[in-house]
Amino acid sequence: MAIKKIHARMIFDSRGNPTIEVDLVTEKGLFRAAVPSGASTGIYEALELRDGVKAEYHGKGVFKAIRNVNEIIAPALIAKGLDVTQQEQIDQFMLDLDGTPNKEKLGANAILGVSLAACKAGAKQKGVPLYRHIADLAGTPEIILPTPAFNVINGGSHAGNKLAMQEFMILPTGAGSFSEAMRMGSEIYHHLKSVIKSRFGLDATAVGDEGGFAPNILNNKDGLSLIVTAIEKAGYTGKVEIGMDVAASEFYRNHKYDLDFKNPNSDKTAWLSGQELANLYQDFIKEFPVTSIEDPFDQDDWDTWSSFTANTNVQIVGDDLTVTNPIRIQTGIDKKACNCLLLKVNQIGSVTESIQAHKLAKSNGWGTMVSHRSGETEDVFIADLVVGLSTGQIKTGAPCRSERLAKYNQILRIEEELGSNAKYAGKNFQHPL
Ligand SMILES: [Mg+2]
Repeated sequence: MAIKKIHARMIFDSRGNPTIEVDLVTEKGLFRAAVPSGASTGIYEALELRDGVKAEYHGKGVFKAIRNVNEIIAPALIAKGLDVTQQEQIDQFMLDLDGTPNKEKLGANAILGVSLAACKAGAKQKGVPLYRHIADLAGTPEIILPTPAFNVINGGSHAGNKLAMQEFMILPTGAGSFSEAMRMGSEIYHHLKSVIKSRFGLDATAVGDEGGFAPNILNNKDGLSLIVTAIEKAGYTGKVEIGMDVAASEFYRNHKYDLDFKNPNSDKTAWLSGQELANLYQDFIKEFPVTSIEDPFDQDDWDTWSSFTANTNVQIVGDDLTVTNPIRIQTGIDKKACNCLLLKVNQIGSVTESIQAHKLAKSNGWGTMVSHRSGETEDVFIADLVVGLSTGQIKTGAPCRSERLAKYNQILRIEEELGSNAKYAGKNFQHPL
């Protein structure tokens, strides 16, 4: 079934910044997709096209990208007459139309909006749920529901506190199902709120961009202790693992790591070398049930990545390091720098390339964690993506804020639809298949 109409418009993301929404129309109806946006954006990501007009939306307008959809992509793609189930051909057509390695001509946000909407139309055309269509496109042999990684304490560039490390996550790996994992996540989250309130006061329970709390602590270990206390109070000790996203590129200064980077007068003598920071992680792993660490080092500090990955059994996730880019992923594989890909659709900019990135990671023994961005929308595409690829793990924020819960809620619906066939990744989140 061919595309009849494509129309892009500006909407606002969860931070109140402009982003793109695309409507794609076929004889089966109208299919809508919205594009997320990150704050801690890796320098190697595909280009998110912003207008850069300071007087408008602080430079964050997306009217250029919208024009690129409405005036360039739409007429060309409609004239091409591809069937909406031909995801690979549709994406390739747009890549050729752009012609640059990082999508800087049309904008990765413009291309992704159309790619996501086309994928939804393709599912409808085949008469199957979106996750099933994605499973077909990727050749996924079995459907497994992911272990959620709830980001319950926020620091880094996503929060106004002193904490350097960006995300402290809980993974309810001991749950028997996805819905039980949601129950555990929700109960722990609310216990955490009371713990923070009793120690730091009510005003410390305000939440960051991804729904996690942002108490004004400086010591990263205190973040881990708070989480362990909340897990205990909820009665889930031993059933929950802890994940972290350090986003260390954000505080790499002169080949050192500044854990007080939000303080402009931080003590330079306290900045850590890569090895010292690695030792700190080893302490965390010994003392707490930490089993996943994302971006432990700067995106170009390859040697420290490789030596740390060789010396630990926990999952080491590349995000700013790999930016869902096949060249960066291959370098990570060659250097044995990490063992899990963080998959963000807007870092690479199309559905087909997202599937390829996951397959490249998987064929080299890596895990894949599907991820939201800090600037999200009500679009739940990544929920169907993580199920369709059955990667076993997703992080899409705290069990708080509807742009985050929207994704978890969609997985609950899929679980219900699968009924007795629903399988939960749990402890096998790294390698569910
Ligand atoms: Mg990250």
